[in-house]
Amino acid sequence: MDKVPLLLTPGPLTTSATVKEAMLRDWGSRDPGFVAMNAGLRQRLGAIANAQDCHEVVLLQGSGTFAVEAMIGTLLPRSAAKLLVLVNGAYGHRMVKIARTLGRAVDFMEWAEDVQVSPAEVDARLRQDQAITHVAVVHCETTSGILNHVSKIAEVVRRHRRELFIDAMSAFGTLALDAGEIPFLAAAASSNKCLEGVPGLGFVIARKDGLAASVGNAHSLALDLYDQWQGFKANGQWRFTPPTHVVAALSQALDEFDAEGGVAGRGGRYRDNLKVLVGGMRAMGFETLLSDDVQAPIIVTFRMPADPAFDFQTFYEAMGRQGFLIYPGKLTVADSFRMGCIGRLTTSDMANAVAAVRFVLGELGVASGAPE
Ligand SMILES: *Cc1c(COP(=O)(O)O)cnc(C)c1O
Repeated sequence: MDKVPLLLTPGPLTTSATVKEAMLRDWGSRDPGFVAMNAGLRQRLGAIANAQDCHEVVLLQGSGTFAVEAMIGTLLPRSAAKLLVLVNGAYGHRMVKIARTLGRAVDFMEWAEDVQVSPAEVDARLRQDQAITHVAVVHCETTSGILNHVSKIAEVVRRHRRELFIDAMSAFGTLALDAGEIPFLAAAASSNKCLEGVPGLGFVIARKDGLAASVGNAHSLALDLYDQWQGFKANGQWRFTPPTHVVAALSQALDEFDAEGGVAGRGGRYRDNLKVLVGGMRAMGFETLLSDDVQAPIIVTFRMPADPAFDFQTFYEAMGRQGFLIYPGKLTVADSFRMGCIGRLTTSDMANAVAAVRFVLGELGVASGAPE
């Protein structure tokens, strides 16, 4: 077998050998060991957000978007409610699309992809539009890699007595999200980003009172978080076929997350990865889209080099032959590509990735990574 490339992408990500090995056993969905594993996952995921007391963790089959759709569909009332989505990238737009698809009242405020959501502008909007009952924001907008100030936004939303949804997908486990300090109705994330599990499971951390009040609200049976929660509460089991191997892998991934020192340890490694990546790329003339103060340690957007010898598709394929899968850009503000620093990657992997970029630029006859 060829050497499997490392994934410098926004997910799915490179996982450890031990996480993959955890999937070698077939579990029955009613097996007491498996039921205990689910209970453990729910407890541990809640603890990462310091949300064990006031929130419930509801696991859900599917990718992250399924969890976001279940969160909005279950917890945003069908009538007498209006969602304001704070958009500075594709995942914000996706929440608008979800709410529209579900026929819920929704509006949005938009900032450029390289600009943080402004808490002051949200404050003004909430003062002016009393119909808004819920606000949704993306913690790290993976489109660009920008960090949004969720604590400041949450503070504004709380002051106006509205409810907050957080798409914490690419941030969960790396950027602190403490329910004791950041009031939120619900936050959604998935198994396969910074928790370094395999894809196939999402989860929503939802405040108990909100979840309890949501009975009968969901537009969908499969994506009804209330019903899913009742299932876990009744017998510790999933309502429908559980992604058993994904659960086992995530359970192992959380052991490794704990061993690394939780959010501080994982976030620390990713920050180190970011430093090696950005430092190495800048030394070759590449420029990041974002300034360092708004860059989350998750994924980095680089402006496309101006050298006419640089062709992204050729560069992408050559990087793949060197053992690194990178990612195209998803921006409207600038022509770009992305490289992630999350997943089971070390600073030496990042240094090797930088060396591979240097080698490939040489192959292509590109003198500098500088844009324009
Ligand atoms: C990855 C991601 C999602 C979910 O994407 P899926 O492809 O459905 O797993 C949602 N929001 C953000 C910010 C993400 O990074």
